Amino acid sequence: MVYAGPKAVFFTLSRSATLKKLASRYGMATPESFARRFIAGETIDEAVVVARSLQSNGLHLTLDYLGESVRTIDEAAAATRTYLSLIDSIVSSGIERNLSLKLTQLGVDVDRATCVDNLRRILDPAQRHGFFVRIDMENSPYTDVTLEVFETLWRQEYRNVGVALQSCLHRTEKDVRRMNELGARVRLVKGAYKEPATVAYQRKSEVDDAYLRLMRLLLDAGHYPAIATHDERMLDATCAYAKERGLAGDRYEFQMLYGIRRDLQAALTAKGHRVRVYVPFGREWFPYFMRRLGERPANVGFVLRGILGERSR
Ligand SMILES: Cc1cc2nc3c(=O)[nH]c(=O)nc-3n(C[C@H](O)[C@H](O)[C@H](O)COP(=O)(O)OP(=O)(O)OC[C@H]3O[C@@H](n4cnc5c(N)ncnc54)[C@H](O)[C@@H]3O)c2cc1C
Repeated sequence: MVYAGPKAVFFTLSRSATLKKLASRYGMATPESFARRFIAGETIDEAVVVARSLQSNGLHLTLDYLGESVRTIDEAAAATRTYLSLIDSIVSSGIERNLSLKLTQLGVDVDRATCVDNLRRILDPAQRHGFFVRIDMENSPYTDVTLEVFETLWRQEYRNVGVALQSCLHRTEKDVRRMNELGARVRLVKGAYKEPATVAYQRKSEVDDAYLRLMRLLLDAGHYPAIATHDERMLDATCAYAKERGLAGDRYEFQMLYGIRRDLQAALTAKGHRVRVYVPFGREWFPYFMRRLGERPANVGFVLRGILGERSR
């Protein structure tokens, strides 16, 4: 089976302005709208409400203000300001202090130095208030620049920051080893983007095998790694390996996406594992939403039922 098929289709669709308009009209219109299954809301206040409820069920959190591929310095500055407001809101609401963000949202495509400045503007107050900030990993044209920006800040003694690495990429073992050597925290994911065969495995079995290898490398020599997946085979293998190595449950954590495998999130928490939920919010939810559909085309059925239901109301 070629793993990349549905991802390619949904990646193309995610660039359709008509579809974006249609989805934006119906996706978040009411509390029952279909996109709310995966997106916590469009505002900081809505995200905080969702986060509080997850936290009250024993889950941990990371909040992500959705947005990517900004084209101007002003848009990057606006995203930075939203993150600063988010920090204030999280501090005053008392929920867990953990953020996720993307460099293309902070302007890396427009001007790299400005992007680094924007990131520093977020990391400084985040550090003062005890936040951890994860830099999400975007598609492969951004792998080098993301890791370079991360290392620049690491050299400047920022320690409240970590990266995400994707098991689908051929290069990732080298990157995991480098992060382990630095002492940096890694979130291990399979990879959400359609990638060419020149840089990435195309079969699910290859991506999964790599995931298992990298998970072991991180549990052996990593620094509080985050094993981010909804795949029960990966999760079981992680639990088994941690047990075999005698690793305590506070040496690593699991991470899952808001709205996906809520049963597993609850079951792992009930067994005493630390599970962090990635909670995305914001008006620019369409590309993120399309990636979630691409991972599981069966989700399209529930979206279509939602749209038809809302149109007939
Ligand atoms: C916390 C977190 C952060 C992430 N950050 C990044 C990042 O920075 N960069 C990046 O490229 N990717 C990121 N991802 C996405 C990741 O790369 C995968 O695309 C995604 O997690 C699906 O892969 P999987 O490991 O769950 O395994 P899969 O083999 O894809 O899925 C395993 C099972 O999980 C369930 N499942 C998976 N996806 C869905 C879905 N969309 N809807 C319903 N059920 C589903 C199904 O039951 C499926 O059988 C992140 C994922 C998580 C959990």
